[in-house]
Amino acid sequence: MPMPRARTRSEAHVYMDLVPCPCGENEFDPDVDVLDPEPPRVLRYFGECPRCGRSREFVFELAAPPAGEPSGFVLGHGDEPSTIIDAGQWLLVAEMSRRVLEHLAESGESLTAAQIPAVHDTVLLAAAAVDEIRKFLPAGASELPADAFWTEQGRAVRSVAGELLRPDELAAARARRWAAVAEFEALYGIDEDDEDETAVPPAGPSPARGDVSFR
Ligand SMILES: [Zn+2]
Repeated sequence: MPMPRARTRSEAHVYMDLVPCPCGENEFDPDVDVLDPEPPRVLRYFGECPRCGRSREFVFELAAPPAGEPSGFVLGHGDEPSTIIDAGQWLLVAEMSRRVLEHLAESGESLTAAQIPAVHDTVLLAAAAVDEIRKFLPAGASELPADAFWTEQGRAVRSVAGELLRPDELAAARARRWAAVAEFEALYGIDEDDEDETAVPPAGPSPARGDVSFR
């Protein structure tokens, strides 16, 4: 099997989240080594499963970012679809992120400054994952091609996804999710061009989570 090729580090992390430890644990907080610094770089993520202690490792080839691309949260530059995460798995990622956000919104609790960067990432992931599904859709096609679902997990998602994978529904979801990103960033004073993910928003009353809709 060729080395998995991640387009970005963010994509590598999504991939690792989709592959549980043999014990069933998805949680994995790896360290990273650069095995080959020349583009395409080779990265080795390694660490122990927090549940069973097993050593886990993932090695990725990391595509060189294209020159002149805007910074910020990107799963894959340009229009090329992923080669390591299929369309069904992207839907799984998008829906899981959406559920996390809905759960937070329903709790009505304010976010602490320390929580904001992680929730911001989840809001971005819920939107960007929909973009990744759409990259598998040929122009003008009325449905995603069968070969966009090459994993068992992706095919299982496809079999139950119903209208969620329809091109019109994907377009609508995309618009809603990116609007939610803009709303979140406005609410918490996040500058979308700010690369510093640990940035703390300006002091002030913290708005309630319930003010944001994520659908
Ligand atoms: Zn384990």
